[in-house]
Amino acid sequence: MMQNFSLRVSTIIDHAARYHPNRPVIGRSVEGPIVESNWQEVQREAKQVAAALQGLGIKKGDVIGVMAWNTVRHLSVWYGIPGAGAVNHTLNPRLFADQLDYIINHAEDRFIMVDLDLLPAFEAIIDRLPKIEKIIVLTDRAHMPETKLDVICYSDLIEGQPDDGAWIDGDEDEACGICYTSGTTGNPKGVVYSHRSNVLHALAAAAPDMLNLSSQDRIMPVVPLFHANGWSIAYCAPMAGASMVMPGRDMTAAGLYEMLEMGVTYTAAVPTIWLGMLQHLKAENLGLSTLKRVLIGGASCPRAVIEAFQNDYGIQVLHAWGMTEMSPLGTICSFKPEVSSLSEEGQLDIQETVGHPPYTVDLKIANDAGEDLPWDGKTPGRLLSKGAAVVQRYLKEDADALDEDGWFDTGDVAVMDANGYVRITDRSKDVIKSGGEWISSIEMENAAVAHPDVAEAAAVAIPHPKWDERPVLVIVPMPEKTPDNAEIMSLLEKRFAKWQLPDDIITVDDLPHTATGKISKLELRQRLKEQGYKLPE
Ligand code: AMP
Repeated sequence: MMQNFSLRVSTIIDHAARYHPNRPVIGRSVEGPIVESNWQEVQREAKQVAAALQGLGIKKGDVIGVMAWNTVRHLSVWYGIPGAGAVNHTLNPRLFADQLDYIINHAEDRFIMVDLDLLPAFEAIIDRLPKIEKIIVLTDRAHMPETKLDVICYSDLIEGQPDDGAWIDGDEDEACGICYTSGTTGNPKGVVYSHRSNVLHALAAAAPDMLNLSSQDRIMPVVPLFHANGWSIAYCAPMAGASMVMPGRDMTAAGLYEMLEMGVTYTAAVPTIWLGMLQHLKAENLGLSTLKRVLIGGASCPRAVIEAFQNDYGIQVLHAWGMTEMSPLGTICSFKPEVSSLSEEGQLDIQETVGHPPYTVDLKIANDAGEDLPWDGKTPGRLLSKGAAVVQRYLKEDADALDEDGWFDTGDVAVMDANGYVRITDRSKDVIKSGGEWISSIEMENAAVAHPDVAEAAAVAIPHPKWDERPVLVIVPMPEKTPDNAEIMSLLEKRFAKWQLPDDIITVDDLPHTATGKISKLELRQRLKEQGYKLPE
């Protein structure tokens, strides 16, 4: 019989500290200067955090809300909280105040840990947070902000705490972290990650056909740790012994570029970040001297972005799909042998899909009756998932979020091909149903943003008396450009049948976005309705 190795996340940081102690962990601090650390120091500070939290009365299972940018310090907090047996509830600073107080109260956070620049978010709502006992500001004494709140300084708190104490141990099924879904309709829902699900997920995600992460890499997560479990990168990197760069709060292309040039070989973010970065590189005539791979997910990655990275900069794009409820990895587009043999164009076609799942994730597409649909690359269906790190039940809900066969409905619509590659065509709520047929809004948007004058696009369904719904394309122009609708239409004609083409193309100044930066179609449809928008005759 084998030993019963505990799948707790503390074992990840212990492994990094023991076998990759000096691997650089570098970051831009919220206070400004660059911090140079390593896995051993991150682990030691995490131990101090764990000891300090216990000193303040934190017990196993207590929830601590953390609102912080991607910094080196945040990594110590990331491991210090579960190391104290507590639960790390990530808070997105872009949430509206009423969503923020809802999730803090719903998750029953006892403490808040917050970056100094984000403290005002709590000043505004503290009266509505009766259960918060302590607010810890993640900075040193010299940078403590003026505030009416009763706060504790992080550096003072951990000073003198032992950096070699034992982690609080326990069952691997205990809660480790909580992340709420964006909740475009109704209240956000809490997804609780266990120690075990996080460890299994990181093992699966780091594997060669997935992130393919190793100790040779230096990875920079632009995706914030508060977005969908930080895409698990803060677990995968120390597990693999990879070096890390934490970009801090400056999300401008120029700020991120500076951090990428600190020897980063691998980075990860949503497509909008990369659209901005590519524009910046072009405008400033810059190159990327060490970057080899970019993980792009969270929203569909336009072909033009994949082509630009690969053809102009020699950087490999890994298109990924996932969601908060899946910890978050669902699929990554790496090449199986069946794909490596395709032509360059054929490979690009495949890279527009989100790829295939790792071991521990199972997927299927089904019709509304729950029956399996064929993997023929053209039949769209509801994408269902099962797995070791897929949600079973949302926090405090009465029933499981699964169908009777144990499948979780992702809310996405997809086609799958014979090799198991998944192409996301829509959110099920955003599908455009015209005359009984489905039109993919994602495909239409990607075709539109291929036009150089189009910065962003959203295809939405508008009610129609005869066809039920008809597509309308809403576009945001690039700065100082006026896109030509006829040109856009002829781009669309290359990919869509005539009946699928939008009835109208409307230009707007901006599109509504959710807290995680996704286009809110719900709000967009409401806007159009309020403005009395009518389809052309
Ligand atoms: P979140 O839980 O906020 O990360 O949102 C998850 C949702 O983002 C998924 O259910 C998809 O609708 C969408 N999404 C994530 N990655 C992709 C992708 N590569 N292509 C299309 N949609 C995506």
